[in-house]
Amino acid sequence: DRGLYIGRFQPYHNGHQSVLERISKLVDEIIIGVGSAQLSHEVRNPFTAGERIMMITRSLEDLDCRYYVIPIEDLQRNALWVAHVRSMAPPFERVFSSNPLVVELFRERGIVVESPEMYERESHSGTEIRRRMLLGENWQELVPPAVVDVIEEIDGVKRLCHISGTD
Ligand code: ATP
Ligand code: MG
Repeated sequence: DRGLYIGRFQPYHNGHQSVLERISKLVDEIIIGVGSAQLSHEVRNPFTAGERIMMITRSLEDLDCRYYVIPIEDLQRNALWVAHVRSMAPPFERVFSSNPLVVELFRERGIVVESPEMYERESHSGTEIRRRMLLGENWQELVPPAVVDVIEEIDGVKRLCHISGTD
């Protein structure tokens, strides 16, 4: 069967990687949905969908499970969101998420969402990584090496500093 995993991945980090490695042992194929795909160049959402897809695809190069990475734009209508996701994703039977809204919306549509255990959540969150980037602290240790490469290639830290107005 196929499992769906959704996040914003701003940026993709070792917590996401650890969850996907675990999911890869539970399903035949994984669908990774890149949420809020239309957003970029914001302090909470600095990277484009394409940049996030690069981070994910390169980090999972050696994963022993086929996966598809698809962008999912926001819909300003939560009651229709599950249908919106289904309308663009390959068919799936299982959903993995710890986001309370995602869990609730799928549950109401009859899909039990599995919540994988968190991996060192205090440090491994997009929020903490963006904070470290802005303060010039070590964020590289929290993401796969491929993500460091992508962020260097696109000059991502400089972008974040510029849009936050602290540079
Ligand atoms: P932000 O702080 O920007 O919200 P985030 O780290 O929460 O970033 P998201 O892209 O919002 O990352 O989350 C995608 C999914 O990854 C969610 O289901 C979230 O619960 C899960 N996740 C986030 N951090 C971890 C972690 N350290 N371990 C396991 N799962 C995580
Ligand atoms: Mg989050």
